[in-house]
Amino acid sequence: MQRNAGQGLSFARRLYAPRLFGLGVGFFCVAAGLWYLDKPAWVWALLVFNGYLWPHLAFQLAKHSPTPYRAEHRNLLIDSVFGGFWTGAMQFNALPSVTILSMMAMNNVAAGGARFFLAGSLAQLTGVVIALLVFGPAFSPETRLEQLYACLPMLVLYPLSLGLVCYRLTIQLADHKRALRAVSRTDSLTSLYNHGYWKDLLQVEFLKCRGHHQRATVALIDIDHFKAINDTHGHIVGDSVLRLLSERLVQNLRSEDLAGRYGGDEFCVILPNTPPVLAKEIMERLRESLGDVRTELAPELRITLSIGLAGYSPYQRDASDWLKDADQALYVAKSSGRNQVSMANDALHHPPPVEG
Ligand code: GH3
Ligand code: MG
Repeated sequence: MQRNAGQGLSFARRLYAPRLFGLGVGFFCVAAGLWYLDKPAWVWALLVFNGYLWPHLAFQLAKHSPTPYRAEHRNLLIDSVFGGFWTGAMQFNALPSVTILSMMAMNNVAAGGARFFLAGSLAQLTGVVIALLVFGPAFSPETRLEQLYACLPMLVLYPLSLGLVCYRLTIQLADHKRALRAVSRTDSLTSLYNHGYWKDLLQVEFLKCRGHHQRATVALIDIDHFKAINDTHGHIVGDSVLRLLSERLVQNLRSEDLAGRYGGDEFCVILPNTPPVLAKEIMERLRESLGDVRTELAPELRITLSIGLAGYSPYQRDASDWLKDADQALYVAKSSGRNQVSMANDALHHPPPVEG
């Protein structure tokens, strides 16, 4: 998968601290493994470089690379080559070797899944072969007690630190998921619920009313002559009117009311546990409060609303029926001269089935 530079850099940043810590502590593990083997000075110099300089160099290489993600994967493979090399150099001393190789394998799986684990294993094998070519084949797997102690910090602390990194990442992912979900539910212009999500909420409310014999009212709100506002003052003013209305709407509603933008200049609200008569009072208040709304962009502009209301009725077969009732009420408000609230007469729209 192609990653962009920003993503690659954050990947490199995320690996910097664990590498710094892992190689710093791993140094003691390998040093203990090499201690009794009488290795030349350059081997010790290489170990110091790998333990304490390489993590900084690796980060700088990734940071200044045009493709940090790829550079960081290459760094991880170099880590693995080093790990294999130290295993061979320690003549496969059991505990330090297993510690180093398994911690690196854990790193590789965490960074790139099973495929990268495989690539890392091949890199480790390459490191082992290099060590065998440099030092000649030698095998002494016995681990002394002091070598075991030297491996303990790595064995205990490194999984802890990697676990912490994974935990932080999980929290970050959960935050991103939450933010994405909110965006997918929100109308970008007004920050109210968007059409799709609001209709899901309507369906839930409909089932609640039907199952628990609750009362609720739906309101459809439409700006009068909005097209003329756009045509006269332009779409920027039109947009600011939509935003102003959504703000007023939220101010006039209760926290449990669910307001959305149905589309264009039409807004929709679910008022749970609210009979139509009470909903009418709330909507009249909203309609009246719009009288003093002014937009700086066009101070002379006056906004009026037509509002259709429909209470939940057991005669409605589904949520669409409920919405249709509110739409019909809105139509009545428009055709009766606009700037008013109209209530659906559910008994009229859905007469009870005739017995016999
Ligand atoms: P009525 O009184 O019958 O409601 O008339 P109206 O002009 O308000 O109704 P109509 O549905 O004809 O016009 C709605 C207009 O809303 C048409 C469309 O160009 C405009 N519109 C839809 N979405 C947006 C938007 O996001 N921003 C702006 N500025 N205008 C929008
Ligand atoms: Mg309109």
